[in-house]
Amino acid sequence: MRKIAILGSTGSIGTQTLDVVRANKDIEIASLAAGSNVELLEKQIREFHPKMVSVWNEDKALELKERIKDLDVEVHKGMEGLISAATIDSAELVVLAVVGMVGIRPAIAAINAHKDIALANKETLVTAGHIIMPLADEKNVRILPVDSEHSAIFQSLNGENKEQAEKLILTASGGPFRGMTREQMKDVSVEDALNHPNWSMGKKITIDSATMVNKGLEIIEAKWLFDMDIRDIQVIVQPQSLIHSMVEFLDGGIIAQLGTPDMRLPIQYALYYPDRKFLDGDRVDFGKIGKITFEIPDMDNFRGLYLARQAGITGGSMPTVMNAANEKAVALFLSGKIKFLEITDIMEQCMENHKVLNNPSLEDILRTERETYDYIDYLLKGR
Ligand code: NDP
Ligand code: MG
Repeated sequence: MRKIAILGSTGSIGTQTLDVVRANKDIEIASLAAGSNVELLEKQIREFHPKMVSVWNEDKALELKERIKDLDVEVHKGMEGLISAATIDSAELVVLAVVGMVGIRPAIAAINAHKDIALANKETLVTAGHIIMPLADEKNVRILPVDSEHSAIFQSLNGENKEQAEKLILTASGGPFRGMTREQMKDVSVEDALNHPNWSMGKKITIDSATMVNKGLEIIEAKWLFDMDIRDIQVIVQPQSLIHSMVEFLDGGIIAQLGTPDMRLPIQYALYYPDRKFLDGDRVDFGKIGKITFEIPDMDNFRGLYLARQAGITGGSMPTVMNAANEKAVALFLSGKIKFLEITDIMEQCMENHKVLNNPSLEDILRTERETYDYIDYLLKGR
């Protein structure tokens, strides 16, 4: 029986990973980790019987201990707990499905402990790809993409000579504000931004899709996963979210992966790679769909995509500043403290203010994250 750990088990990717585990019955759960949703975590513990769990929030960890005192399950907390859950002896693979750059340290710890990684948590690669990818190579650990575009590219490269791939083509839905100008997006609400046309996801990535910062993060994620120059990674808007991404080879041939928008497919593919297994759910019906359309992304109105791509081209500590600024600005937007367009305005101001460090260490990255948060506090002083 394969054993896995799931970090972020109560989130959108985490719960869908457990759906895949439930349907297949041949994977055991070694550990689970969550932020603060101990009601759901308790249910997951009673259903999947992990030996150990971790909760980020200390009070919630205590509450969970009380809730499951009839069970023989270790409850850990904070970053130490997250790392323990990521490195538990019995797990062969860690599903990294926490949101944000909080995933960096557990990812590094899991790789050092020789665990394969099913990676949903793109912020970790965006900020620390230059540390994670060589370390995974050195430890002979596989980083299996869960993000649908990267899984599509991974599937398209299967059996191919990666050196003969000339271009990656990342598809984007365009999000809920596709076709709108900045003027039209000036007063959009949190509710409008959370209303994604095709995918149901966690709040942070849903806002990232609305700003299109998500696609910028994915460009950098693809650079690291597939060792490609950012200039050879193209974004094309494909509003039906049917083509999940494509690879163009040197003979001009293009291989794509298509499917309904269902994250369980890339999750299951990462868990069982290189095998494919039955997955219930809708199948693509081309006759019903009728047409697939394409648009060039609008980087003038969706400045976040431009900025994130620029951060990737600049490299060093710039992607960390871009990502940290976005994480904090999205949280501020979700709590009603700033307007939608301010997310990317703040990102731009933080990037302009930053002096790039080349090849930042883990400590440099975490310090840059804190400095970026402080700079945003300074920018918003008195508001
Ligand atoms: P959610 O917000 O739905 O879930 C996040 C999960 O992480 C929750 O289990 C949450 O716990 C947990 N968490 C948050 N902070 C911490 C912390 N400090 N310590 C431990 N656990 C924590 O996010 P998603 O599932 O949507 O996204 C997860 C990652 O996957 C993101 O990086 C996202 O970009 C990526 N991704 C998601 C896709 C999707 O379809 N959802 C598609 C492609 C990529 P709690 O619930 O207790 O707060
Ligand atoms: Mg994606």
